[in-house]
Amino acid sequence: MPKEAAETPPVEELLTAAVTGLGGFERPGQVKMAQAVRDAIGAKEHLAVQAGTGTGKSLAYLVPAIAHAAAAKTAVVVSTATIALQRQLVDRDLPRLADTLEDLLPHRPEFAILKGRRNYLCRHKMGAGMPEDEDEQLFDPREVSATGRMVQRVVDWANDTETGDRDELVPGVSDQVWRQFSVTARECLGAQRCPSGADCFAELARERAGAADIVVTNHALLAIDAMEDLPILPEHNVVVVDEAHELVDRVTSVVTGELSESTVALAVRRAGRLIEQGVADRLQEAGEDLRSLLAAAPPGRVDDLPQSLALTLSLVRDAAFACITALGPRNKDKDDPENAGLRRAAFTALDDVHDTAQRMLDAFGPPPADAGDEEGSDDAVDSASPGGTGDTGDRWGASGTGDGARGAVHPDEAARAEVVWLDAAHPQGRANIPPTLRVAPLSVGGMLREKLFGSRTVVLTSATLALGGTFDGMARQWGLGRDGWTGLDVGSPFDHPRRGILYVAKHLPQPGRDGLPEAYVTELAELIEAAGGRALGLFSSMRAAKAATEALRERLDVPLLCQGDDSTSQLVKQFAADPATCLFGTLSLWQGVDVPGPSLTLVVIDRIPFPRPDDPLASARQRHVAATGGNGFMSVAATHAALLLAQGAGRLLRSIEDRGVVAVLDPRLATARYGGFLLSSLPPFWRTSDPVKVREALRRLSTDD
Ligand code: SF4
Repeated sequence: MPKEAAETPPVEELLTAAVTGLGGFERPGQVKMAQAVRDAIGAKEHLAVQAGTGTGKSLAYLVPAIAHAAAAKTAVVVSTATIALQRQLVDRDLPRLADTLEDLLPHRPEFAILKGRRNYLCRHKMGAGMPEDEDEQLFDPREVSATGRMVQRVVDWANDTETGDRDELVPGVSDQVWRQFSVTARECLGAQRCPSGADCFAELARERAGAADIVVTNHALLAIDAMEDLPILPEHNVVVVDEAHELVDRVTSVVTGELSESTVALAVRRAGRLIEQGVADRLQEAGEDLRSLLAAAPPGRVDDLPQSLALTLSLVRDAAFACITALGPRNKDKDDPENAGLRRAAFTALDDVHDTAQRMLDAFGPPPADAGDEEGSDDAVDSASPGGTGDTGDRWGASGTGDGARGAVHPDEAARAEVVWLDAAHPQGRANIPPTLRVAPLSVGGMLREKLFGSRTVVLTSATLALGGTFDGMARQWGLGRDGWTGLDVGSPFDHPRRGILYVAKHLPQPGRDGLPEAYVTELAELIEAAGGRALGLFSSMRAAKAATEALRERLDVPLLCQGDDSTSQLVKQFAADPATCLFGTLSLWQGVDVPGPSLTLVVIDRIPFPRPDDPLASARQRHVAATGGNGFMSVAATHAALLLAQGAGRLLRSIEDRGVVAVLDPRLATARYGGFLLSSLPPFWRTSDPVKVREALRRLSTDD
């Protein structure tokens, strides 16, 4: 029998008390899930639970987690992907649960939220103990500009806030502004040395977390905690990962490195105040070379290392290393906090540039056997092999064709561990993000297996984990083998076959590359007319969403909102308030819309959401799986599509009374070989491909409501 059952009331009893106390009703799936979580914790075995919308899965894991924390006198970590779920847990579920369970447990359950240091206001940096990183005029509070006003808002808020948590600053500010008031963990001086250490918001949050039974965090911090030698989260042996379908993407983001003219310029600015000008100038020149190279290079995956890129990366790396050396010993200013802050910030930026450049060079594998240092280059000390630029190399231009650069390398695809790609310049808010080179691992499974699953019991849950009817695809991505974990689908309280129809428009042409075919627009118009509006349009691209909005605004009489017209949360509110209104959009709507009731009766999906063929990471992962003997298409593209399709279709039924239609306009769902895999990842709706039947059903629903 699990340890906590002997010391606290049984989980079933606690769950009943919680459900009764919160005014809900008992659901079999919820009980089954709570028991499975309790058993997994007791057996120290990982558990993946798929729990459909309406199961009440938060309570189903929080109750056994609280019971374990109380019995074992240790914290349980709950990790989420979105701020919305964090808020729901901390502001709603946990306080109410603590009230209802208080009398049944040895003490009132305590809970806390903990985020990465960058999310908290840094008092030391605010007091100008650290460098400002951007153009000074942007950060003059008197500047009458949007940025200036944002800066002033942070300054005003800083006087009142009790937590320093960025998410409590409403409305929010841009990343660029927030960076002026926060530090990363590596930039932080450490509470012992920092003059503001005693009042530090991040430290206070850690203290609160240290005394809590349940610590709510996000996937990024969970990953960082698992990877770092110094733990950030309080000691724990159980982790619950909610929204677990997002884990791999979030962890990949944490370990993705990037290099651009901005990252180099930041390092130059920080180091320039502390070292000899000539040494910093060398890094600045290398950054300028990088800027010219990236501006002229083709965006996308870089399969072979062009000579020009090899040379520039080597220059950047070596110039950053020279700056690091010029800064002297790392603990030189340990008794001078102000200087120590400046130096730590400089080291962090320089280390980032140096390590990322090296990592990018390493991503292409070892140099060819005959490569060696060439004469005539002091900078490219790594290796050299002139010539042989190959296709990609040519498109990267002929700059730096000279000595010291490593030429095109064709490593064994199966041996590759990381992928490098170039993202084109793009605007973000008022800022312009320059072309940026990125490097990311082809898989984070090994890292998760070793660092996360190796030393804790992990419960992973989401409404969508069993793709094609099995957990194997997700388990592979998490790095779990065949043993040591269990998968459980507790189903859904919704009666999918009776409440929902899955309509596949089999008669339509296959979606092409060029825009939205006329037949699709007509089909959409007919479905929306039959439903009397009430439609959520989930499109595979913003271009398609906008094209459909424009075309249908001319044809239909119902209000049509399109993502980008206003903030997404505002659009969702308008959509929910008026049943005649339709809302069209792309990725964030696939997962983030929760509108129960008659306002959402029709979900239209324009095409199977495969990753774009030019998605560098997905395409590299697909090729890597194929090179290692697997089915790249099924493991990567079809799995990605199945997950998103299930998430999108999951927008339809949000309460037990909801009814409606999921219409997929892409005929391949019914005709392609992989269609069966995708269909078996969707809820068990009643299926049809008859447009007349589906329009009749929609008309009936619109007159019934
Ligand atoms: S301890 Fe770190 S985060 Fe806290 S105020 Fe000091 S430098 Fe900022």
